[in-house]
Amino acid sequence: MLKLIKNGRVYCPEHMGKADLLIVGDKIGKIEENIDPSGCLLEVEVIDAQGKNVVPGFIDQHVHMIGGGGEAGFASRTPEVMLSSIIRAGITTLVGLLGTDGTTRQVQSLLAKARGLEIEGVTTYIYTGAYEIPTRTITGNVRWDIILIDKIIGVGEIAISDHRSAQPTKQELKRLAAEARVGGILSGKKGLVHLHVGRGKGGLNMVFEIVEESDIPISQFVPTHINGSRALLDQGIRFAMAGGVIDITSGASPMRGDRDSIKPSKAIMECLERGVPLGRITMSSDGNGSIPLYDEEGNIMGLTVASLESLHAEFRDLVVEEGLDMSEALQIITSNVAKVLGLYPLKGRINVGSHADIVILDEGLNIDTVIARGRKMMEGGKVTVKGTFE
Ligand code: ZN
Repeated sequence: MLKLIKNGRVYCPEHMGKADLLIVGDKIGKIEENIDPSGCLLEVEVIDAQGKNVVPGFIDQHVHMIGGGGEAGFASRTPEVMLSSIIRAGITTLVGLLGTDGTTRQVQSLLAKARGLEIEGVTTYIYTGAYEIPTRTITGNVRWDIILIDKIIGVGEIAISDHRSAQPTKQELKRLAAEARVGGILSGKKGLVHLHVGRGKGGLNMVFEIVEESDIPISQFVPTHINGSRALLDQGIRFAMAGGVIDITSGASPMRGDRDSIKPSKAIMECLERGVPLGRITMSSDGNGSIPLYDEEGNIMGLTVASLESLHAEFRDLVVEEGLDMSEALQIITSNVAKVLGLYPLKGRINVGSHADIVILDEGLNIDTVIARGRKMMEGGKVTVKGTFE
């Protein structure tokens, strides 16, 4: 089956102007100013994108697929993510991970969930591990997990500078990074260490020291939650200026009840204004984890599940409120992430030969249509393909 997206403004993510896109199976087969479907031997479904923007599907490298939380007891464990929550957020590729709880949640279950979501229609990867070091694995070894299990592209989220971390020593973190790196080298993956950086003492200090003292390159580490506090953002900017890539958490914002954090779109603008190259910034949702809700005195009022939709909301704010060029804002949630994860240009780009992961945004930048691997998952703002139990 062929699909033809006609008359849209195409962002690759760089702006290429008005063009038509022919989707052949799960890939993009042709991009031209005008593709005429008449005379084609096969049936062609035409999707009219007149007045709309055709952009790469979003990539979210931090999703608690099988739930997270549990930090206010067993009743606060968040449930598994459903396919429609992913699609509604415009996400077509996601990386799943465990968080604080590596005891009642297992990498094995995460792998099964990732495989399930892939069957349901999106592209998935996972990190082995959880907050703690020594961390949780499937084979008993981070390096083996990365080498032997296709979906595992690194280790994470490993917690540092947080009261919930295992308080790892520098040597322990260095050794873990070395395992991930060699695992990556031997399997043709990035072997990333996806770091949960908390708001505790030290921030990124340990990572700076490891990069300085050892032969592990700065690109091995992807520190996230960098907009978690003022001090952390300052350190993150230093990290990015030194050649690293920093990840902003779209779900962490004072507007969503997280008082210490810096609004993601503002944090990104500050990074750019202070000289961080655009290519060193990514954004992820931290979706499906738990968010504590506080009253004005700072007492916990309850818990809510973090939505994956904050990723799109902050992208939109970058363009609409902050005036960032649309192609630049898109890079932060598409091509930059694909490059960090080692998936580019198969993912994160509208390109002949790339996967047909496409989002169509209306004039107000709302998500209108989502296509994942050539399959239409959302149309006219409505999710059309649901998960098995929805
Ligand atoms: Zn985290």
